Amino acid sequence: MFQSQLIFGVGCFFALLAGPLRADELLVRDGRYIHLTTDIASTEEAENLVASFDAAVPQWMQFWDLDTSAIADFKVKACVIRNKAKFNQRSLIPATVPNFPFGYALGSQVWVLAQQSEYYTRHLLLHEGVHSLAYHLFNGAGPTWFQEGSAELLATHHGSGANIKINRIPQSREDAPYWGRFKRMSQATNNKEVPSINTVLGYQPNLTGDVATYSWSWAACMMLSSYPEYRPAFVTAAQRGKETGPIFNRELQATVGKQWPILAARWRVACHDLNYGFDWNNEQVKLSAKDPVWNGSNLTLQVRPDQGWQSCGVRIPRGAKISISAEGEITLADQPKPWTSQPPGITFRYHRGRPLGQLQFCLLPNANDPQATRIEPLEIHGIENQSIINVAEYSWLLFRINDECGKMNDNRGSYQVSIQRAR
Ligand SMILES: [Zn+2]
Repeated sequence: MFQSQLIFGVGCFFALLAGPLRADELLVRDGRYIHLTTDIASTEEAENLVASFDAAVPQWMQFWDLDTSAIADFKVKACVIRNKAKFNQRSLIPATVPNFPFGYALGSQVWVLAQQSEYYTRHLLLHEGVHSLAYHLFNGAGPTWFQEGSAELLATHHGSGANIKINRIPQSREDAPYWGRFKRMSQATNNKEVPSINTVLGYQPNLTGDVATYSWSWAACMMLSSYPEYRPAFVTAAQRGKETGPIFNRELQATVGKQWPILAARWRVACHDLNYGFDWNNEQVKLSAKDPVWNGSNLTLQVRPDQGWQSCGVRIPRGAKISISAEGEITLADQPKPWTSQPPGITFRYHRGRPLGQLQFCLLPNANDPQATRIEPLEIHGIENQSIINVAEYSWLLFRINDECGKMNDNRGSYQVSIQRAR
């Protein structure tokens, strides 16, 4: 209480200052949901931060299915800091705040270190703001994965100022300089260090701002909030924000119930593909525990180029030997003219080391080891004239067309895939 009054007094004092900024002065801007004190040089950037924050808050409320009446008295006192000493001199960072590498939230106060890009600074301010909102609405933000993951989820954005749209994956690296989440995730993928979903849910609190921990927590929150069947459980879980121990996860898992192995399988698929431009609307994988076991009869499937992994709808039993063939043509819209492709792909245009437009398949095991700390990377195969596969364990058989995630929406056509018992 004392601290917050002190900060308020200091804020008011600086708010009275007018005219050009002197080197030792701080810039203060007051918005609807944020009172900002900063030493960043650009007035324009400071005002944009305030406008972005004010436009983000109602979107957060919408995300949590809550009415803005619950935030009539919600206002964050934020410091966006380039030179920490200036803020320390003015007692704007209480001694109770630990040394933070990116940002810190304490009740309705947040501190953020200005980053090398406006995007990343804005992201961190929003991230800490989500924590403040969680304290305000739910008296806490849940265990580490939920706390950090939902803050990342609601801080990731397109645009800025009044036009900001929260919960949007950046379209490209250029849209989000220095933010680096996908870089860290692809390092983990290359090192076969992608955590299992259970590992993520078990993350312990850490104050080092480890980007990998934040990124995988974000991925888990994205998945849980993007699939319509998990979303109600995810949104309801926020209400239990005060709970930071294992009970929080147990209740969430109980709500998802028998769907958990499906969720774990989807996690494995999503972790393989998450990248700039990833769109959960066309990357949801249709899997069900009720998918019948394949009886050996011939299957046909239309594989679309504007969707992520597509299941052939059955579970292939252990020991099965299958043969896959495909035909057809698709169009991958691109400048300066549309590219057409057949199942082997366009062999002079590559994505992830394979021909663009190539029909790919993978076996996704039905079972997953709940004790495993890491996931086994998916083994992706490109279609050849007649691909023969020996199935080692009960698995879904999934197909997709090789293309960059952000560039699938205008793809057209389909491949016709035939699956037969191999002789
Ligand atoms: Zn955080």
